[in-house]
Amino acid sequence: MKDIKIFYGKKILLEDFNWLDNAGVVVSPEGKIIAIEKIDHIRREYSGRIVEFECGTIIPGLLNAHTHLELSHLKGKVQASSSFANWLQEIALHRIMFDREQAIASARESIKAMIAQGVTTIADVVSENITPLLLAEYKHLRKFYFFEIAGWTEEQATNMMNRLTERIRGLEQYNDTMTFYGISPHAPYSVSESLLRNAVAFSNREHCLIMIHLAESPEEDELIRSGQGKLYELFDSFGVLPEDWKPPGCSPTQFLYDLGMLSNDTLVVHFNYPSDEDIQLVKNSGCSVVYCPGSHRFFKHTRHPLPTLLKEGINVCIGTDSLASNEELDMFREMRIVAEEFSELSAPQILSLATTNPARALKLQNETGKIKKGLSCDLAVLISNNADEITLEMISGKKEQEFSVLATVLAGNVVYNSAV
Ligand SMILES: [Zn+2]
Repeated sequence: MKDIKIFYGKKILLEDFNWLDNAGVVVSPEGKIIAIEKIDHIRREYSGRIVEFECGTIIPGLLNAHTHLELSHLKGKVQASSSFANWLQEIALHRIMFDREQAIASARESIKAMIAQGVTTIADVVSENITPLLLAEYKHLRKFYFFEIAGWTEEQATNMMNRLTERIRGLEQYNDTMTFYGISPHAPYSVSESLLRNAVAFSNREHCLIMIHLAESPEEDELIRSGQGKLYELFDSFGVLPEDWKPPGCSPTQFLYDLGMLSNDTLVVHFNYPSDEDIQLVKNSGCSVVYCPGSHRFFKHTRHPLPTLLKEGINVCIGTDSLASNEELDMFREMRIVAEEFSELSAPQILSLATTNPARALKLQNETGKIKKGLSCDLAVLISNNADEITLEMISGKKEQEFSVLATVLAGNVVYNSAV
């Protein structure tokens, strides 16, 4: 039994959000949790190598449910503007001047930083195909690639779908059980109806998840409902809309619902401006919602409907979005923003947004998101900066966060240790 490992900490957060003091997580050679017990019991019952974090507070590794790592090089380069259309225009200009080497270097830094901040699963939207190569270096990290598709013409639609098949085939070389894929039609305002239909058919055929930006801005709503507004003006000036394009004439959520895109295989990102009817459509179709607190604050959007969504029983998770609309990709900071914006939420509710809820949205609930027997040993080990007890209120950002990440454990492997 020499390959068994035991992670020993001052306290461990259990799935019911209670603490087990002076305890250890026993892990199989395959990286699965065998037991969570008091350390005295473990010393009697198991023989294995004890990895000592005796001052550490052990919590489940965090899941970042939405990011675009390949936009990391835009950190601090894109200013928040009064209009979403202006921001989109700036991003489009940066895409023209895209420097691949720089994008690779910045994405690499972001991955390192994220792991050092306790993240053990990353759901990344891939457009330029940079991140699969970089993330493959982290064998034990759970990676979920959502391949982006966008375009207005039939020709673009055909090219995008052909390229999609190639990119998915490209993942086979990594041959690893920690790699998952889905597709990401960019948004209702940047993908033609026929390409959206192709995406739904693809998802049904391949049984893969869909991630799509939805109801992000009032401009999106205006374009889809009436074919007017700043987004329309922007697309018109770029000449990207086909001549025969007509607005769907309903809300963006209704539009996707009518196309059959909303199901429990779908994650809708942002969902900042839904109507009451839109919320019911999402609820009834079983979609998950990814709220991006830092990005939401960057754009100064009106208050997010998060409490209503949770009350309706919708599965909501949080993500950082990219550094083109956020200062950091730190999930603890995202939880702190949620705590600041929504004092009515409890600490377990906030922590669930970064652990159990994204695991469920990504259909990884039998693998990660909790410290539980049978699940993968994905952990974040925290250490107090001032010797005070670390509480759930501190971790979720409801109280000042006087702690840092001591170590990150992926499937039983310590991949980051601040002491080394
Ligand atoms: Zn995004």
